[in-house]
Amino acid sequence: AAILSNNVWNLCARFTDLFENLGIIDASLETLNVPHAIADLPGAPDLKVPRGGITFEGVTFRHGDGTPVFTGLGLVIRPGEKVGLVGPSGSGKSTLIRLLRRQYEVQAGRILIDNQDIAQITLGSLNRAIAEVPQDPGLFHRTIGENIHYARPEASWDEVLRAARQAHCDGFIRRRPNGYDAVVGERGVLLSGGERQRVAIARAFLKQARILLLDEATSALDSETEHAIRDALWKLFEGRTVIAIAHRLSTVSRMDRIVYMEGGQIREEGSHEALLARGGAYARLWARQVDGFIADEED
Ligand code: ADP
Ligand code: MG
Repeated sequence: AAILSNNVWNLCARFTDLFENLGIIDASLETLNVPHAIADLPGAPDLKVPRGGITFEGVTFRHGDGTPVFTGLGLVIRPGEKVGLVGPSGSGKSTLIRLLRRQYEVQAGRILIDNQDIAQITLGSLNRAIAEVPQDPGLFHRTIGENIHYARPEASWDEVLRAARQAHCDGFIRRRPNGYDAVVGERGVLLSGGERQRVAIARAFLKQARILLLDEATSALDSETEHAIRDALWKLFEGRTVIAIAHRLSTVSRMDRIVYMEGGQIREEGSHEALLARGGAYARLWARQVDGFIADEED
């Protein structure tokens, strides 16, 4: 009996350990904020985006149990409006974009696209409505053609070629021995940074989404590439609602509205000219520009 109770005791101790470990794992997932599987509500309808208006309504969000990034944030973006987000590092720009993609869920308030709460519609339809050009686009170890086509697999090959031309990719792709069939290497290492960005722009053209999210690259490119990318981006912006985390002066100054964020709050907003005239935080940031870039950090 003594042996038995000892074993039972051991077993209990092991279970305790196990649950403690699970708790620790759970807690660390929470701090890393690994997006938990965000499931569709039963019977959720698809999002319909006839116009592309976006509304943040009293949005409160914190990562894990940290201090809130946003407390009651309000932001209304008109259909087709081009909004540049600027502000110091840590002000919430990336989090705002991830919330709109429902990679995180709001703790209070709502995010609406054309008057539909994004928490109430299917995630698949939300993903189809939004194209994103990330700062350093991840490419698959496949051909360049496949890397573009993946943005809308049901698109025809002609559509892929057209998207590549619109993104000023066609030239550098055709100059490669295998053209569209050239393999890009692990994570796209066989392409330059500027080429990877143009592939991401081609994907966004092909996707034909009404909402475009852009996280502009912070590093300089040679002036020819820079020109090609700027050109492609402004074509891509046409007819779309755009939210851009903007670093390049050439992009920032042409946006309809610049939203200057700090500590999760909108501190200033308006056109480039209006904000310069105001002589506030944005104007100071602009004055400290370096080589055509707005500095993200404030020290
Ligand atoms: P920005 O893009 O403007 O630099 P972020 O949206 O990345 O700002 O960050 C906003 C705040 O949220 C910062 O205080 C940052 O430290 C915090 N944060 C961002 N991502 C995470 C995360 N995954 N887990 C915990 N805190 C985070
Ligand atoms: Mg960021």
